[in-house]
Amino acid sequence: MKSSAELRQAFLDFFAERDHTPVESSPLVPGNDPTLLFTNAGMVQFKDVFLGREKRSYSRAVSSQRCVRAGGKHNDLENVGYTARHHTFFEMLGNFSFGDYFKREAIGFAWELLTKTLEMPADRLWITVYTDDDEAARIWLDEIGADPARFSRCGEKDNFWSMGETGPCGPCSEIFYDHGPEIPGGPPGSPDEDGDRYVEIWNLVFMQFDRDANGELHPLPRPSVDTGMGLERLAAVMQDVHSNYEIDLFQALIRAASEVTGCADLGNKSLRVIADHIRSAAFLIIDGVTPGNEGRGYVQRRIIRRAIRHGYQLGQTAPFFWRLVEPLVEQMGDAYPELRERRAHVERVLRTEEERFADTLEQGLRIFDEIAAQLEGTEIPGEAVFRLYDTYGFPADLTADIARERALTLDMAGFERAMSAQKERARAASQFGAGAVIQLDIEGETDFTGYEGLVDQATVIICYQD
Ligand code: ATP
Ligand code: MG
Ligand code: MG
Ligand code: MG
Repeated sequence: MKSSAELRQAFLDFFAERDHTPVESSPLVPGNDPTLLFTNAGMVQFKDVFLGREKRSYSRAVSSQRCVRAGGKHNDLENVGYTARHHTFFEMLGNFSFGDYFKREAIGFAWELLTKTLEMPADRLWITVYTDDDEAARIWLDEIGADPARFSRCGEKDNFWSMGETGPCGPCSEIFYDHGPEIPGGPPGSPDEDGDRYVEIWNLVFMQFDRDANGELHPLPRPSVDTGMGLERLAAVMQDVHSNYEIDLFQALIRAASEVTGCADLGNKSLRVIADHIRSAAFLIIDGVTPGNEGRGYVQRRIIRRAIRHGYQLGQTAPFFWRLVEPLVEQMGDAYPELRERRAHVERVLRTEEERFADTLEQGLRIFDEIAAQLEGTEIPGEAVFRLYDTYGFPADLTADIARERALTLDMAGFERAMSAQKERARAASQFGAGAVIQLDIEGETDFTGYEGLVDQATVIICYQD
């Protein structure tokens, strides 16, 4: 058996032995891209290198990058607890070529690592390439000898990557692992490909073109390679389990979650959600994101409150989430020393948020039950979603999470309308004159964020006219 920690190291070593420079994971808040919510792939810290704006002393790199996909373009928050393969926080193993090697070497390295070094059975792997990428198809089928029966060409959605509207882009080739016929789901490219039988483990991106403002593709003089493999998905394959939540690292966190919530059933979905969320919440705090009402801080708040609600669901009404920091440090503190160093701070931030939400969570859940009991159809009205948000501090996706467990949906358009109406009222109120609106914050926070911001339940707005 290979532990997650050993696999991370095996990947780094494999590429270091092949002249790749090991590069540290960058923080979750991208330093070079204000438009990106969180670092969501290994290539993010190398963006300017790919664009040719930045030079490095190496042309090959390898990294294990911490990633969060809980908001923005890549959002897997809703998948957590429902699929075997998605997390909000995960580690992406990647090798990169900056105008150095291209398709042949990238494909060769991947195949060698998986089937030789890690001894994965080739007949469990399934390969995809982009529809018209004959070059990659030829390398796989003729040079590597991949089985044409486990090979498909896929369209733009999954197999064509671009950095933005313009700029570097190119076809991808993805490697899937077949977890066996007893699991529902079809091969990539088939109508039921979204199941969990064939799990995508590695994506090889071939940056081949530069797209101009007219959408035309021009070949890059020195094409590059960017790859990403989820460490947790790799560990699931290597540890011979189907779900990422069954790997060593997650089993340890799930056991810890079981202890702090008192839920003895280790297969319980809420335990998986809590084990997932402690990783994103803790690493986001280390990287400077604390729970708040806007932007990154609000995503962080949504993650933490979602976890707390799942603990509550298991019967734990006292603060418990912060107690998972210690077991997390045990699992990941060696790879990320900053986690160990800042443990007390992370615990404090989480505990404060737990105490803050405790006041309204129980009431909010009661209100939800009342609404659900009176419901005629299966859709929670937008006004109700807004009330839970505004008065009880329930982010809409938290309400959606509860609703989904009862086969209910939310009227999100109605929620948005209610939200706009409230902003309108706040704006009108602020026009009574300068200084006529005072914001009082029960918690004593002083940072006034304006009425465009999301108003927390702990915030009271008093308007007066003289
Ligand atoms: P999927 O189709 O399964 O959602 P993806 O195509 O969105 O994956 P990529 O953007 O290609 O994923 O990311 C590269 C690799 O990172 C994937 O092949 C997978 O191994 C891993 N990965 C992506 N998203 C997640 C996630 N939410 N949790 C864990 N691993 C992930
Ligand atoms: Mg995805
Ligand atoms: Mg995919
Ligand atoms: Mg992919």
